Amino acid sequence: MRINKYLAHAGVASRRKSEELILSGKVSVNQTIMTNLGYQVSSGDVVEVNGVAVYNEEPVYYLLNKPRGYISSVSDEKGRQTVMDLMPQVKERIYPVGRLDWDTSGLLLLTNDGEFTNLMTHPRHGVEKVYISKVEGQANKENLRPLTLGVTIEGKKMSPARYEIIKQDKAKNHSVVSLTIHEGQNHQVKKMFATVGLPVQKLSRVQYGTLNLDGVPTGQYRRLSKKEVSQLI
Ligand code: URA
Repeated sequence: MRINKYLAHAGVASRRKSEELILSGKVSVNQTIMTNLGYQVSSGDVVEVNGVAVYNEEPVYYLLNKPRGYISSVSDEKGRQTVMDLMPQVKERIYPVGRLDWDTSGLLLLTNDGEFTNLMTHPRHGVEKVYISKVEGQANKENLRPLTLGVTIEGKKMSPARYEIIKQDKAKNHSVVSLTIHEGQNHQVKKMFATVGLPVQKLSRVQYGTLNLDGVPTGQYRRLSKKEVSQLI
């Protein structure tokens, strides 16, 4: 299929507007800018507009309970295990919605729907995410208070977070704290706890909007229903 028709089919823009996108260098095929209007897209091609992959497949949405030790991307040039290694039966060309660090476990969404990804990761959308963090030190009302006011990370003010102290272990000098945040900055939770002098030792995301990990053991995944998707957007 010709590239402008492919983009129009995928709902990016009309064929004419898609031609404009192609000519202005906003479209790439297999990581190379494509300005040839006559290009025929073949089945293995990865077409991107402004760096966002565009598919002509039915949109699908998965929830994965990511173990530690996997990176949240489709491939890794260093050959490390990725979350895709956990989902070999999935036939659609999905990719993670945002990311969890290599050493963070928990709830990760994956989809082939670029618009959904843009919406979920847009700062203004502000989906609530809940993390359980094991931190070094004694978490208490006083040292956690700045998080509830909104700390500044690399010049950006985070919105006020909510917390709950789940466990305090004085002998081992660590605490377990649940933290609810709205943004999705890189390493945000680790950086937030660092600002209050409580380095994160272990981190897991247990909730994403209305979704949680009930019934999905570590390393397993499931499809989201249409209703679950609509509750997120
Ligand atoms: N915050 C972090 O610090 N790491 C994650 O993986 C997710 C949120």
